[in-house]
Amino acid sequence: MFASCILPVPLAQTFTYRLTDEQSGKAKVGMRAIVPFGKQHRYTGIIVRLDKEAPVGMDVKDIEALPDAEPMVRGEQLEIWRWISDYYLCAIGDVMKAALPAELKPESGRSGVIREDFKERTATFVEVALPGLGEISEDLEKTNKAGESAEKNPEKKESKIARGLERLKRSRRQQELFMKLLDMSGYLQRDEPVAVPKEELLKATGCDGAILKELIKKGLCRTQEVAVSRLGDTLEIETEPIHALTEMQRVAFREICSSFQTHAVTLLHGVTSSGKTEIYMHLIQEVLTAGSQVLMMVPEIALTTQLCARLRKVFGHRMLVYHSKLSNSERAEIWTKMLGDNEIDLIVGVRSSVFLPFRKLGLIIVDEEHEPSYKQQDPAPRYNGRDLAMVIAQRHGAKTLLGSATPSLETYHQARTGKYGYVALTERYSGVLLPKITLASTSEAYRNGAMVGPFTPQLFKSLGNTLMAGRQAILFQNRRGFAQMTECPSCGWTPRCPRCDVTLTYHKRSHALRCHYCGYQQALPQNCPACGNPTFAQQGFGTERIEETIQRAMPQAKPIRMDTDTVASKASYERIIEQFDSRRSNILIGTQMVSKGLDFGGVDTVGIISADSLINFPDFRSHERAFQLMEQVAGRAGRRAGQQGEVIIQCSNPRLAILRHVVAHDFKAMAEEQLLDRKKYGYPPFTRLIMICLKGRYDEQTRALAVRYAAVLRASFGDRVLGPEAPGVSRVKGMFIQQILLKIERELSPASVRNCLKTIQQQIMRGDHDFSRIVFYYDVDPM
Ligand code: ADP
Ligand code: ZN
Ligand code: ZN
Repeated sequence: MFASCILPVPLAQTFTYRLTDEQSGKAKVGMRAIVPFGKQHRYTGIIVRLDKEAPVGMDVKDIEALPDAEPMVRGEQLEIWRWISDYYLCAIGDVMKAALPAELKPESGRSGVIREDFKERTATFVEVALPGLGEISEDLEKTNKAGESAEKNPEKKESKIARGLERLKRSRRQQELFMKLLDMSGYLQRDEPVAVPKEELLKATGCDGAILKELIKKGLCRTQEVAVSRLGDTLEIETEPIHALTEMQRVAFREICSSFQTHAVTLLHGVTSSGKTEIYMHLIQEVLTAGSQVLMMVPEIALTTQLCARLRKVFGHRMLVYHSKLSNSERAEIWTKMLGDNEIDLIVGVRSSVFLPFRKLGLIIVDEEHEPSYKQQDPAPRYNGRDLAMVIAQRHGAKTLLGSATPSLETYHQARTGKYGYVALTERYSGVLLPKITLASTSEAYRNGAMVGPFTPQLFKSLGNTLMAGRQAILFQNRRGFAQMTECPSCGWTPRCPRCDVTLTYHKRSHALRCHYCGYQQALPQNCPACGNPTFAQQGFGTERIEETIQRAMPQAKPIRMDTDTVASKASYERIIEQFDSRRSNILIGTQMVSKGLDFGGVDTVGIISADSLINFPDFRSHERAFQLMEQVAGRAGRRAGQQGEVIIQCSNPRLAILRHVVAHDFKAMAEEQLLDRKKYGYPPFTRLIMICLKGRYDEQTRALAVRYAAVLRASFGDRVLGPEAPGVSRVKGMFIQQILLKIERELSPASVRNCLKTIQQQIMRGDHDFSRIVFYYDVDPM
């Protein structure tokens, strides 16, 4: 027989290999196959088809091994992989690469040696083995077991111990180890003494393995290997009952259920703190009770510590968390666990969790569905996890609930035209008021010389009052680091990244200039390299500079900073949350990270340092995004009954319409206004966008090739083709970027557009050798 396999290479086709007779009897679609590739490589591929006949005119190699007894990938998953490769115009090998945990697809390097496959982790446990003592006669053992158990008699146990110690009298270390083992295993206290992890035992006594070996040799204890999970799911969890829904929430819950009768997808549009999460939990419970699985998607797991803890309390071990900070083996363990029969039926995960091998999905919840982080930017497949969720749900006959306080305009448009169901929650839980938002003009404050560092007098005063009252504040700035840019005050020279087209950001703690795109770092020069001026001016306010000003100007402030510089790991994120939650800190300063999902009771005041930098972003979504961000950040204020939070937004022009909508919490007005613009200028949701990217080492060559490519596209697509254009950041990691944008009417069949694009690509690449020097890819539905 012959097997077609997907290999983890960026190529569109599958590859065929020959199976031996024995392999043929065992092979199934979805199993892994280890195959040779080229002269030196070996890969783990996935079998997608089995054929009796060899493909004609092809040199077919043998499969080296079939490591699995059962498929590692389900049939529905393979169908979804194909769908992704088709829709997002990328190689199926890239989809496989993204979908299957690295540990499950070992591949060889040039040496040809294949890495080891995923293995269960085991640990060595030690247990007391006293009944095996030579001195105890067989007879005695028998009577012990049959009649009155001697094991249960402490006296008998003690005499056994004494006899054991007798054998160890020459070695104090062995005695110590033995005593510790008796102690840790509860030998005297328990009817069934427990086995003790070897590592812990040795650590507790400071003994090494050689001493333990002696004890084993003398028959006083024995070891055993036990499989242990990497997922920490053996810990006991105290579950709590789920909260009862309020009347309003119950109405929304019922509306969602009836909406699902007629719509596969429903939008839950609920203001911040209205209890969306409570409603999710009730829905989850219902679906789990019916025997189906639930996937709950969240934008970033680091931002959902609090949410996960809430869900864990209700769903305990039935729930698993899947995120980007898991180790490769943890991912592999989750994957293999989900393939087997088990209790896991709730997965809380980031966008990549859509690739997991679900058995039977009943519901997918996409929380904060508007979040840009659902979109994978790089590498391929450049998919949107939210959109993929809907495709996957459909294949499982499952429902999708999209939840947000500030839906994406794409989703909102589908809901208002009836394609999705729509359920609204307009009030916060227990009548808590939405925060009061005021605008503070920075231009006016600058004119009057009234700024205090980065603060307008309004924000400065409000922060002071909040801290005096023993309450907390959150400050939001979408820039990390110390200053936005460093500029020579005499000649205007600014340091730039040598590999990317951006200015470097000054980080005070490390006294270095850093590139936020590629991580390039250099020391701050003493003098300006252009004119020799000895001092640099810092413009703009990064999170670090804000922290410093607060420390200087507000003695009662205990600030803590949360941005990608301070949050290196999930643990450091949790530490910051804990410090703020326990009120050891009273001002939280942060970037985008502080906008999402956090629920603190003590926050009275939220300050947005600069709305300008959010609004003046050159993108057709910038107003939508600015609104979403400001509304989300504002939602962190005043989340408890009896207090109304205050939000102060600093901006240079308080008259902008978008800011007025934010002040009024008027999502609908913002959406209608923006949708009119989108329609007028032909942007999503009224069109589909496909971005074509070319990257090359040389600026002019890349540009010239992009112009040629665009010309060929125009012959077929006419003025639907825009560009080529260099993006805002036109050079990253030494590669120059050119983009061609395609705006496609929604009436055109996406499949025929894709076919047309593929044909054009093949023709050009084959006919024009220059194109082999550039990197070329599509970004479908770019964000
Ligand atoms: P959202 O997800 O819409 O932001 P949450 O579900 O986080 O809102 O609810 C906000 C706060 O109100 C949380 O602290 C939550 O525990 C509480 N809450 C909401 N609904 C209820 C309820 N029915 N019973 C008890 N507490 C609730
Ligand atoms: Zn760089
Ligand atoms: Zn200078």
